[in-house]
Amino acid sequence: MITRKELIEKYLHFFKSKDHKEIPNSSLIPINDPTVLFTTAGMHPLVPYLSGQPHPLGKRLVNIQKCIRTGDIEQVGDSTHHTFFEMLGNWSLGDYWKDSAISYTFQFHTKILKIPLERYAVSVFIGDKDSVKDEESAKIWLSLGISKERIAFLPKKDNWWGPTGESGPCGPDTEMFYWTGKEKAPKIFDPKDKNWVEIGNDVLIQYEKTKDNLFIPLKQKNIDFGGGLERTLAVLNNFEDNYLTEIWQPIIKEIETISHKKYEDYKKEMRIIADHLKTSVFILGDEQPTIPANIGQGYVLRRLIRRAIRYGKILKIEINFTKIIAEKVIEIYKDYETLTKNKELILKEIEKEETKFRTTVERGIRKFEKLANEQKEISGIDAFLLFQSFGFPIEMTEEMCKEREIKIDKIGFDKEYLNHQELSRTTSAGIFKSGLSDHSEKTTRLHTTTHLLNEALSRVLGPEVAQRGSNITQERTRFDFVFSRKLTESEIKELEDIVNKVVKKSLTVKSEELPYKEAISSGAKGEFGHKYPSVVTVYTVVDKDEKKEYFSREICTGPHVKNTSEIGRIKIIEQSSVSAGVRRIKAIVED
Ligand code: ATP
Ligand code: MG
Repeated sequence: MITRKELIEKYLHFFKSKDHKEIPNSSLIPINDPTVLFTTAGMHPLVPYLSGQPHPLGKRLVNIQKCIRTGDIEQVGDSTHHTFFEMLGNWSLGDYWKDSAISYTFQFHTKILKIPLERYAVSVFIGDKDSVKDEESAKIWLSLGISKERIAFLPKKDNWWGPTGESGPCGPDTEMFYWTGKEKAPKIFDPKDKNWVEIGNDVLIQYEKTKDNLFIPLKQKNIDFGGGLERTLAVLNNFEDNYLTEIWQPIIKEIETISHKKYEDYKKEMRIIADHLKTSVFILGDEQPTIPANIGQGYVLRRLIRRAIRYGKILKIEINFTKIIAEKVIEIYKDYETLTKNKELILKEIEKEETKFRTTVERGIRKFEKLANEQKEISGIDAFLLFQSFGFPIEMTEEMCKEREIKIDKIGFDKEYLNHQELSRTTSAGIFKSGLSDHSEKTTRLHTTTHLLNEALSRVLGPEVAQRGSNITQERTRFDFVFSRKLTESEIKELEDIVNKVVKKSLTVKSEELPYKEAISSGAKGEFGHKYPSVVTVYTVVDKDEKKEYFSREICTGPHVKNTSEIGRIKIIEQSSVSAGVRRIKAIVED
């Protein structure tokens, strides 16, 4: 048995004994690099030093780096790929080259970790028009005792790294594999055989790729070793499955308890849940904590939590469980101070996201099943409905479609999404101010009408009726709201009456600037899901006859009439359904 802690100590100790200085385990969110969402390798923070700029700690560096690879999400569920993993990394920045690099790696693997040669194999670059066949590395491996049959020559897609952008440092690599099969390892290394698991990779950074696709030799040659901690830990303990190690077992066991099911029977589901929630904990508890959101890292986080919950549904987990798993993760990784420090935030946010999603996930799944049974393709509008009304990330709907082998109109979804964004931007963020629409008297009157209708709707149909966007032209106002059925004639009439009564009463429309929080606590309505600035304008239709002394109160950029008498008679001319659960009415004002 070897523990994660021991493996880390052995690794750092060995490379420190070879004069490497330890560099910090950086934030998962790359600093000063907006091109990627997460740190994907230990190399990441070192890219600036590959071209000659001296590193403050010298030319030989070592560390353990937390990494997130969202690109591997589809592989998660197998025994060796995670979205979050730790990477053992050591570097030579213009110091030692291939001989030492390969020999250090070999010593670490076979002498320190005592991996038997019997189970060891390597790959090297086969060569192409840009770079020669890497006979040099192969020779070094041979000299260390690796047999010819255990050295595979592979092309660029397997044995090459970089550049990170279009141009920059790059080079071939040489990779190390471990035989995890139950039977004796074959004499000849076949990289396609899944029993061979990649545990490490020495990248030999010796070229600069130019913008014209030329590979010119770098002045400073660099070595970048990256090793998978989870995989190495598993193989050292004779497990053919990473999830059997101590850094996963407490989580898996907890999932077994919560779901009353066995890991043996539900490996894929349990691995996905464990993986996604571990990653979520690390995103939430990073030194730059991120909470669920609809963009950027926060969106990845949201997707991970929601996908874990969906897989929880497959296991028939009916309770809030993400928090319980999160606690296990924090316990396993006690050495990550930021996790412990942010524990409260992590647990609060993960549960909040779960609660939010749980209220709609079941209905959403039923809705999806119904759509999938009825038609051969999920339309853009339906995918958007699942996103908007049930909180299904598009990637999740795509995945569900794939499972059912039906098509999905992703382009249609994107169009709907953009349309909607445009809609809420123009209605709430001030199309008037930006001059895209007119400031005419008519639209101003319709604007105030919209507020009155909004309030009237919640009085007639119930306070839970939430606005889902509106649109105003010279002719009419269009108002969408969450409601499940067609309105009756008498309800339409009641709405008109309420609004027309307010018009008749000649009520003052007051505007004031308030901090957003104050606006909300003072009773102002805002649009669901809309992001408001810290200070907002609140429009109040003042009515002393009301208990609250106002008829309606809403956050808005305006413009509005000064007095409701300016509006004139209103009339609802149309009602329709936008999508399941969302209704639309159109109203006009008569001159
Ligand atoms: P693979 O081909 O197995 O996906 P890779 O070529 O993407 O691996 P590298 O980019 O070379 O891997 O990363 C260095 C090491 O990190 C790998 O040798 C492997 O041990 C580990 N590793 C890579 N991706 C993952 C992952 N998703 N989960 C766990 N460990 C990983
Ligand atoms: Mg990979």
